[in-house]
Amino acid sequence: MQNNFYIYNSLTRTRELFEPLHPPFTGLYVCGPTVYSDAHLGHARPAVTFDLLFRYLSHLGYKVRYVRNITDVGHLEDDSDDGEDKIGKKARLEHLEPMELVQKYMNNFLKNMEQLNTLPPSIEPRASGHIIEQVEMIKKIISAGYAYEVNGSVYFDVPKYNEKFNYGKLSGRVLEELQQNTRSLEGSSEKRSPWDFALWKKATPGHIMKWPAPWSTGFPGWHLECSAMSTKYLGEVFDIHGGGIDLQFPHHECEIAQSTAALGKESVRYWIHNNLITINGQKMARSLGNFITLDRLFSGDHPLLQQAYSPMTIRFFILQAHYRSTVDFSNEALSAAGKGLRRLMKAVAGLGNLKASGDSTLDVAAIRKGFYEAMNDDLNTPLLLSRLFDSIKYINSINEGTDRISSSDLETFRSLFGTFVFGILGLKDETAGRDDEKLTSDLMKIIIDLRQDARSKKEWEVSDHIREELKKSGIILNDTKEGMTWNRE
Ligand code: ZN
Repeated sequence: MQNNFYIYNSLTRTRELFEPLHPPFTGLYVCGPTVYSDAHLGHARPAVTFDLLFRYLSHLGYKVRYVRNITDVGHLEDDSDDGEDKIGKKARLEHLEPMELVQKYMNNFLKNMEQLNTLPPSIEPRASGHIIEQVEMIKKIISAGYAYEVNGSVYFDVPKYNEKFNYGKLSGRVLEELQQNTRSLEGSSEKRSPWDFALWKKATPGHIMKWPAPWSTGFPGWHLECSAMSTKYLGEVFDIHGGGIDLQFPHHECEIAQSTAALGKESVRYWIHNNLITINGQKMARSLGNFITLDRLFSGDHPLLQQAYSPMTIRFFILQAHYRSTVDFSNEALSAAGKGLRRLMKAVAGLGNLKASGDSTLDVAAIRKGFYEAMNDDLNTPLLLSRLFDSIKYINSINEGTDRISSSDLETFRSLFGTFVFGILGLKDETAGRDDEKLTSDLMKIIIDLRQDARSKKEWEVSDHIREELKKSGIILNDTKEGMTWNRE
């Protein structure tokens, strides 16, 4: 199974065999969030996509070291080398210490990631904890001749780099094109060329987050942290680097340039980018009023939302599309995803109740092959889901007696279905626990009403008996001003 796993290699724009990976170990680096506001719908897609890849590679037998960074420093507004640090600005607005702000939003992000049932990465390094590694990498780039210092700031020399290497190979942009599209240098700029980018910036007097370095007290450029941290935790050359397609340029292009300049070779074997989520056909942006945080999506508290959508509905919605296609969010699409999820969970329950008899009339090996083929075809989750739904019809035909399944095949079928639905797609049945809770609360309401009725008729023996028996089951009744309430011991 390991040798026929395909992945999209956007460096060569061809599908490549996954053979260059080094079983049983592989390194996966994914660009994580800049934590200065609540996690939103845009964070959910890369999280689910790379969780899927992490789960599938692990399932295939790879020991995966999955590194996802937390950007908590040096990320300037508009992702340019100018303007105010986003975290510093927000910290001022919220009257928080920058690290307090970072912690607050990192906690929110991690809570949402758990709700989406994404597995925690192996390492979640923070940029602020790796300033030394970033400074060391700048020193290497300067001594290799691809960076220069101006007034305490250090810039990467893109034209110089491009003489020997190819800047723009990942995004397909060429330097001339870049030149046309980049606004010309203002007289005050320290950069030699408009496409040069900052490796280190000297802090202006009001800048809060800054560190001492040989060039000035300042802070690293945004692109640098990923080069420094991926090298530290995955080595100079590693297998897979992922992120959203919006990071392909300039972020990943700059990462390639930095690592190549510092190490003399390319670090990443495969790049994998997920496409973006649009909302009713529009790009998501705060200015368009269609910016939906995950908390609001899960609670339904947003003018664009007709109802709350559960974390698994969002996960299913994302998995219904191929990760390289765009996905358009709408209430219709999400409620359809909710229906699909319920149908799948019903099938799992149906599979649990299925009875084996005699020899099989269905080919479980062929079903298994179909599931793996879908995943091996560049993580084709829409195809996998349609094959999972196709196999549901067997559950019905076995129940109706038109098909039969042997007990060993039934065991294989159940474990196969469970592996793909829960283990690889990472879905879970959200209704199971909720149904029990609802039933308990409905029953308690009936019991409390009966007890009140007994009390009003002064049937103290009955009301005491109910209280004592409930206590034995760990339920405590409380008389409050608002009436009778209950809680578990
Ligand atoms: Zn990055």
